[in-house]
This record gives sequence, structure tokens and C-alpha cells, in this order.
Amino acid sequence: MTEEIRSKYQVVIGLEVHAQMLTKSKAYSSDKNEFGSNPNTNISVISLGHPGTLPKMNKKTIEYAIKMGIACGADITPFQKFDRKNYFYPDLPKGYQITQDHTPICTNGKIYIKDDEGKEKSINLTRIHMEEDAGKSIHDVDVHDTLVDLNRAGVPLIEIVSEPEIRSSKEAYNYVTEVRKLVRYLDICDGNMEESSLRCDANISVMLKGAKEYGRRVEVKNMNSIRNVQKAIEFEINRQIKLVEKGIIVEQDTRSYDALKNTTISMRSKEAANDYRFFPEPDLLPITVDEKQIEAIKAEMPALPRDLFLKYTKECGLSEYDASNITDTKEIALFYDEMISFTKKYKGAANLLMGDVKSFLNEKGLEMNEFPISAKTLSELIAIIDEGKISSTISSQKVFPALIENPNDSPIKIAERLNLIQDSDEDSILEYINQVIKNNPDEADRYKNGDKKLTGFFMGQLMKISKGKADPKAANQLMRKTLDNL
Ligand code: ADP
Ligand code: MG
Repeated sequence: MTEEIRSKYQVVIGLEVHAQMLTKSKAYSSDKNEFGSNPNTNISVISLGHPGTLPKMNKKTIEYAIKMGIACGADITPFQKFDRKNYFYPDLPKGYQITQDHTPICTNGKIYIKDDEGKEKSINLTRIHMEEDAGKSIHDVDVHDTLVDLNRAGVPLIEIVSEPEIRSSKEAYNYVTEVRKLVRYLDICDGNMEESSLRCDANISVMLKGAKEYGRRVEVKNMNSIRNVQKAIEFEINRQIKLVEKGIIVEQDTRSYDALKNTTISMRSKEAANDYRFFPEPDLLPITVDEKQIEAIKAEMPALPRDLFLKYTKECGLSEYDASNITDTKEIALFYDEMISFTKKYKGAANLLMGDVKSFLNEKGLEMNEFPISAKTLSELIAIIDEGKISSTISSQKVFPALIENPNDSPIKIAERLNLIQDSDEDSILEYINQVIKNNPDEADRYKNGDKKLTGFFMGQLMKISKGKADPKAANQLMRKTLDNL
């Protein structure tokens, strides 16, 4: 499709994100909430929907949903009821899901994202409600039959519904990334799209720019990564624009994304759309949430990524690039926050963390919480680099690896023991310089004749004979001065 045709259209996207809550037990029973157990082992008469059994609300689910609401600046609904959403499917033993139709636990609130120009933009939320997951139908294990695993039936979910304010597939990508970051910071969902503990349904429509009314939305499901959410939306936008260009009206439709073919396939059209016959759930009492409970939950919440990002850019003077790298992952952000409680060298701390520390973790396949050196010890390392006792090169090559071997050792003691303390004393640096010039008379002549680029060569020689111990900054200045006076 040409850019010209594409640019005639306004893309409108609203996302529904389902997040499985990391509770120990299910939403309305004490059955285990655990991914990867043998099929149909985390079940009881409640998960199986036997007649006469009663659901009992898991309080943790409410707490987790409120956390998400607070994190998004949403209003928490003081009086909530539950509803039944009825439909028939083999992996839904009760024949209905317990959900919140009219009184979602949270309304309003927003998610901050970057738009296509990199500017901050907020996407309003319609609601966040609690519901339960269905079981899983497995179509690709047995050649003849579909198998059903009910371990997932009754696992608590929150559904986060956005207003149709997302304007591109990239914005949708950024939105899901932010939602995932938030649930991970809050420790309420592991955010693992591959294992479907985080799922995203994308509602997409297109309209001519300036049109007053949105086009009919098509809902696309079954994307198992954030990248695939973006790809599915991109495919769908093109499909819809092509139809509209041919004068065909896009019908409301639910489609499934096929990642292998990068296409979407119709699952059910509007005519076949479900009538869920919502009605109040008679077996669960309504719940009330008061200010005191909200305050208590707030008090337990960690710092949030956007607040940390603002702190690092505004108060610590980090670039947006550094700040977003650090705040992408909660454990890294918390480690950085601890580092800067010991040092005011914010940039140095960021460099060390995103440089040596991150490379070490990547190389060993470790997570931040498995990193052996404490934030305090690293701040001591930053201090001796800053004081010019060792260069950052020596730090990376010698002191950091020695600390990895002995995390409880002290950086300054290691530097002394390994004889790495840098020489910034002018006399001794001058001695090195004179020796280098004496050893390389031809290069010295060429420098005298104007080949100033040779400074680099002389510095390399100096670092070699000083075994990396000469303070590079001081040495560089002195070297130029000496060479220019030859
Ligand atoms: P349902 O459960 O029927 O899918 P929801 O209200 O849960 O309905 O979700 C509707 C989603 O569709 C919301 O995210 C909303 O922003 C989005 N949406 C509504 N109208 C449009 C439209 N014309 N184009 C794109 N998205 C839309
Ligand atoms: Mg939907």
C-alpha cells in the first residue's frame, strides 16, 4: 500500500489486556494457581463447576487489582458486585465466568506511553475489572480429539480496558510494554505473554482523517508476544484500508492472529457474536473498599517506573535513554536506587550498572537479584574511579572481575593489592612521557612535522609502559604539552 493511501486514514485502537494474578490459589477456591503443573491436577469440585458448590472470594485478587488501579491513578469503586457471563465452551465447566459487568473494581486512570514521535502521551482507561480465567482446550496434542486442561479454570484475572485512544501499532506496542512493566513492578502478574499469563486483545478500526464517526472495530486475539501485537495490528490496518479503498464496509468481527503466516483469520462475525446474558452472581457477596484499605495497600507499593524515570531525569540528570533503560526492569531500577543512596555520582553509577554489571549478567545468563556484588561496594568502586585512583578501564578489566570473584572484598584494597592505583603525580607521568618519546624518535619527528594524530599512538605507548596506571586525563594534557614543545 502506498504511503499516500495510508496517510488518508486515521487508525483507532483500543486494547483489552488480561493479566493473570500471581496469587497462590485461584479466584474463588483454594485450588492451586500454578502454571506448568500436570494437566487437571490443580482442580477440585469448585474448578470443575459441580452443582451445589460455592465460590469464595480470594482477597489477594482484590488487593492486587487495587494496586494496579492505584498505579494507573484510577478511581477505586467503593461498592462492587459480581456478575455471571454465560457461554458454552468445553473448557468452561460452570458454563459461565464470574466477572464484574456493572461495577468494575477500577474506573478511569491512565497509562503513559510514548507516541510515534517519542513524546509522552497518556491513554485513558475505561475500566479494570476482576474475573476468572477459563480452562484450556488443547487442539494439537492428540490427532483425533481436543484435550481439556482445567488447571487454568478459575485463575484470577484482571482485565484492563483502554479507551480507543491508541493511534498506531507502535503506540499499541508501547502501551502493552508499559502495562507489563507496571504489573511486574507491582508483582501481581509475571507478564509472560508466551505462557499467556498476559494476553492482549486488540480492537482496531480505520476511518478517513477528519471523519466524525469511528469505523467498525475488529477484535484480534491470540498474539503471544508484544511484537506480535504490533504485527497483528499492522496487518489488520492494511487489510481494513484495502477493503475501504475498494468501497467495502468492514464488518465487526473477531479474528485470530496467525504468527507463522502473519495474517488474521475470522473466528466469528457479528451475527454469530455471543449474547452473554449477564446477570448478577448470587453466590458471592458484594465487596466494599474504603479509603483506609486503599491507603494500607498504597503504603505497601514499590516506587513506580514512571516516578523513578522522572526522578532520574529531573533530579539525577540522567538522559532519557539511560533512565528508561534503568527503569525498564524493576530489579535493575531498585538496584540503581540503592546505589544512588550511597553515591551522588549518578551518571557513573548508571554507566557501571548498564555497562559492566549488565554485560556480566547477560554473559552468565543471570538476573539482577542474582548479582553477587552489593550496591554499596559498587558505590565504593565508583568513588575510587571518580577520585582518579583507578581509571574506568582498569576498573572494568581488573577490579570489577576481582570483585566478582570476591564480592565481599573492598575495591580500594583490591586496587592496592594488585598495584593498580593510578599515577596522577606529574613527575612520574613526565618520566613515562620522556621515555616514550625517547623510544620512538621517528614518530616524535613526524609529530614535530605536524602529524598531530600521533598523540593517540604516544598515549597508547604510555599506557603500556605504565601498565595502565597513569591517569589518562592528566597524562593526555601533559603529553600534548610536551610534544608541542619538542
Ligand atoms: P468487548 O468485551 O465486547 O470486546 P469491551 O468494552 O470490553 O468490549 O472492549 C471494547 C474495546 O474496544 C475497548 O478497548 C475500546 O476502546 C475499543 N473500541 C471501541 N470502539 C472502537 C473502535 N471503533 N475502534 C477501535 N477500538 C474500539
Ligand atoms: Mg473484547
